[in-house]
Amino acid sequence: MSGVLVITEQRGGEWNRMSLETVAAGQQLARDLGAAASAAIIGGPEVEKLAAELASKNLDRVWTVRHELLADYTADAFAAAVEQLVRKVSPDYVLFPHTYQVRDYAPKVATRFNQALISDCTGMRVENGAPVFVRQLFQGKLNADVRAEGSPPHFASVQAGAWRAEQAEAGSAQTEAFTPQIDGASIRVTPEKPFREAARAVDLTAAEVIVSVGRGIREKDNIAIVEKLAEALGAELAASRPICDNGWLPMERQVGSSGQTVAPKVYIAVGISGAIQHLVGMKGAKTIVAINKDPDAPIFEVADYGIVGDLFEVVPALTEAVKKIRG
Ligand SMILES: Cc1cc2nc3c(=O)[nH]c(=O)nc-3n(C[C@H](O)[C@H](O)[C@H](O)COP(=O)(O)OP(=O)(O)OC[C@H]3O[C@@H](n4cnc5c(N)ncnc54)[C@H](O)[C@@H]3O)c2cc1C
Repeated sequence: MSGVLVITEQRGGEWNRMSLETVAAGQQLARDLGAAASAAIIGGPEVEKLAAELASKNLDRVWTVRHELLADYTADAFAAAVEQLVRKVSPDYVLFPHTYQVRDYAPKVATRFNQALISDCTGMRVENGAPVFVRQLFQGKLNADVRAEGSPPHFASVQAGAWRAEQAEAGSAQTEAFTPQIDGASIRVTPEKPFREAARAVDLTAAEVIVSVGRGIREKDNIAIVEKLAEALGAELAASRPICDNGWLPMERQVGSSGQTVAPKVYIAVGISGAIQHLVGMKGAKTIVAINKDPDAPIFEVADYGIVGDLFEVVPALTEAVKKIRG
């Protein structure tokens, strides 16, 4: 079969939320190419449960790639499994979500086919029957069009938030099991606990609501004001780079080109100017709310809702209003 194969990601039976975003991207690419899209799910026994969910999408086939050596992630085992699946399925295009895990093993898979991974794509379109992948350069200042050359398969990964999970079309797919041959001796690393399970670590990419604070907050002690709003909303707290550079919040909460790329349903930017390095990390949010005293702040260019005002007045009032509504 030629067409598009989407490699999804899960851990311990929980989806990485970028999986469905990548299914939506794969469906779009397949539609534009007049081809079929399939998806694969990789892991231990938990893949069976998740496969049923994936099979409710408009896909030609759902491949369950199950092996005891895939229960815990290692680059060697995942690269071997995906390579074998790609050789069996023979897709023209293989799409991955651009997760930490994918950054680790997908280039290795692409190399085994003498290809490069076209990474972190924010868009795709089909021109003259072939896809053009869009990637951001220079902290999002330029968009580059990348065309895959040579014979398929071609490999690309898609950026968090560039497609929306809700765009994944419903349908019904046939499920098929694929058991890769993995030799335990070929696995050169011993997996340890994933980093996000470490104490205090936070995965902002999974947050549905984020309240993010910038230099407008003036000093560390004032962060409590924004923290209260996040608490009232059940949101994660994030920040622009100066806040983390100052050590006012841990680095793992930084959003932007040198921090995390997030795609929550709601992103509330408080006292953040909207520098390009910050915008590239959050403009995939579904709804952006900006609170800034400067009506010309660039953040308002990407905001769906803007409040021009002093955050020290607006945020406490908003927190009270949220508390009232949520009881
Ligand atoms: C290579 C490189 C990588 C970078 N990576 C990142 C990154 O990953 N993430 C990131 O965020 N930045 C990054 N930066 C830094 C980036 O260029 C900006 O300097 C930074 O985002 C600015 O942070 P800010 O918006 O909090 O601060 P400022 O730009 O100083 O903006 C503060 C805003 O608060 C407003 N304000 C002030 N007082 C109030 C008030 N009382 N009420 C309401 N509003 C108020 C002001 O009007 C202003 O708009 C990077 C820079 C470089 C060069």
